[in-house]
Amino acid sequence: MGPKGWSILKLLMFQGLFLSHSQEDFDFFYLVLQWPGAYCDTKRSCCYPTSGKPAADFGIHGLWPNYNDGSYPSNCDPDSEFDKSQITDLVSSLKKTWPTLACPSNEGFKFWKHEWEKHGTCSQSVMDQHDYFENSLKLRDRANLLQALTKSGIKPDDKFYDLEKIRNAIKDAIGFTPGIECNKDPERNDQLHQIYICVDTSGTEFIECPILPRGRCPSKLQFAKF
Ligand code: 5GP
Ligand code: 5GP
Repeated sequence: MGPKGWSILKLLMFQGLFLSHSQEDFDFFYLVLQWPGAYCDTKRSCCYPTSGKPAADFGIHGLWPNYNDGSYPSNCDPDSEFDKSQITDLVSSLKKTWPTLACPSNEGFKFWKHEWEKHGTCSQSVMDQHDYFENSLKLRDRANLLQALTKSGIKPDDKFYDLEKIRNAIKDAIGFTPGIECNKDPERNDQLHQIYICVDTSGTEFIECPILPRGRCPSKLQFAKF
């Protein structure tokens, strides 16, 4: 190869390096928080984790990289298996605020492993496994959803509340419109199940959602006791 060939090759290699650091392979995150009362109050029911009944508060479901068109990447790196030893400092917080409600009863590592491998591996360009869990915990604390709702008189008391009021209470507290998802209890009541809050690609700031998930909520929904 002549000198010209080498300079072109060097330019291409430089561009490759530069691009791999400046481009994420997703557009934003959904921070998805679940209401334990709704997860448990369905036909399939639930199991408390081995540490006991979780607090009556929103728990983390996951931090999900997403594309602006509503599609999303998943299971991006089979070589990056969940490694407990990287999150030992976070386990006690995870047990409190990212509790698993799936059966059979377990400590929670299965749920965290699933979320890391399905979703976390798709945001490794911006955060490693430790930061994936740490950022999720910080974001949940910052959202402080239960306080946002109770401040507006919306409580987990099995009563029915306006979807619009729930949405506005959260918007007033965090500054951005959340996605709200419902499920049905065995009596076919529509219940507040999950809240989606959008987060920038750095995984640290709330943003307006580029696209909201379809929530299947009617105009009045039940906020289940837990
Ligand atoms: P479901 O069908 O219960 O809504 O979702 C099943 C799973 O698919 C979720 O737990 C999540 O892992 C993934 N999923 C569903 N919707 C979305 C979405 O809008 N964005 C991302 N990133 N994942 C999703
Ligand atoms: P998704 O693919 O929906 O993000 O992940 C949900 C998976 O995590 C399911 O396989 C589910 O059994 C498991 N899982 C374990 N604990 C929980 C929990 O507390 N809530 C939800 N939604 N899924 C859980």
